[in-house]
Amino acid sequence: MMSRTISLISAKNGKPKYLIAKKLCKCSKCKTLIRASQKCVEVPMIAGAYTNKKRYCLNCFRLVLNQTIKDIEQLKEELD
Ligand SMILES: [Zn+2]
Repeated sequence: MMSRTISLISAKNGKPKYLIAKKLCKCSKCKTLIRASQKCVEVPMIAGAYTNKKRYCLNCFRLVLNQTIKDIEQLKEELD
């Protein structure tokens, strides 16, 4: 039986997800305030034995996503 194919962003630590902030917090990248009821993104980051969750505003997450796509395209190029 074939094992399930994993995705680089859906390891057991979970993948990024959109959520509505419940309380005031700060974007991990630009330090902009994310207010309650504002849409933001939570990204799980493995730090040693535990998973650390980082919050990003939508602008920063767009940059993170673009960088991720670049990295993946680079890997794909090197594959061929
Ligand atoms: Zn930000």
